[in-house]
Amino acid sequence: MSKIKIAELFYSIQGEGRYMGVPSVFLRTFGCNFSCRGFGMPRPMLSTEADDLASIHELNPFKRYEDLPLVSTGCDSYASWHPDFKNLSPMLETDAIVARIMEILPHGEWRDEHLVITGGEPLLGWQRAYLDLLNNPKMKALKEITFETNGTQKLTTEFKNYLDHYIDESYGREVTFSVSAKLPCSGEKWEDAIKPEVVCEYEQYGTTYLKFVVATEEDIADAERAIDEFQQAGFTGHVYLMPVGGVESVYALNNRAVAVAAMKRGWRYSDRLQVPLFKNEWGT
Ligand code: SF4
Repeated sequence: MSKIKIAELFYSIQGEGRYMGVPSVFLRTFGCNFSCRGFGMPRPMLSTEADDLASIHELNPFKRYEDLPLVSTGCDSYASWHPDFKNLSPMLETDAIVARIMEILPHGEWRDEHLVITGGEPLLGWQRAYLDLLNNPKMKALKEITFETNGTQKLTTEFKNYLDHYIDESYGREVTFSVSAKLPCSGEKWEDAIKPEVVCEYEQYGTTYLKFVVATEEDIADAERAIDEFQQAGFTGHVYLMPVGGVESVYALNNRAVAVAAMKRGWRYSDRLQVPLFKNEWGT
């Protein structure tokens, strides 16, 4: 049986994107190909300036996710990929993951809830394990899944074949790829992060949209350039802008401005409901 290294598994309200407000199980896999240490840092990212993760490194070891500090710079789910915290993420067989999902669902079975497979980067190495996970009989009633991805990982042939079967009309199921493509404000390089050919292929296997995390006019100009590249490659999905802000003080500074910027351009606005509702604590 396949195993997945699980950073977090919890039940909450989806705070972002297409399923905002929908009760959801979040399965956060361990591992990411990026580190996104530029979020909330001055541009160009100053290598001499220590970000929040540097100070957390000093405080480690932590024994539980609940005790990990929140960050106002860098990746807000840093413990789901940083080697310092890998001991907090157990490798679990898919049956054990399903058993835990049944425990946290309010009725002990899937009803109107949605599954979010997130990370880290959930399409890195775990694609083969999702077949086992989704084939479990207790997962048959699940109707809607979102993969929250950075849009850089190709789908494997095996997984594409599976998705073809999975989204067959007769099952009435829906797969979504929520692609948070990383702009230069993340600290990642354009050529590593903007992969139109990869994202265009997702569109063949599920509803696919782009979600850009922005704070400044410069970020929005970068989003425009990226959208142009995606659309020239054939991308037809929706575009969302979402404010930077893993902590409420940063989110509250730019959420309204980002909403207005999205509106002006005819793009969608994605909130981060988990920030005002739950302070973006781990497990929310
Ligand atoms: S791609 Fe996402 S999970 Fe990975 S480092 Fe960047 S923000 Fe964090």
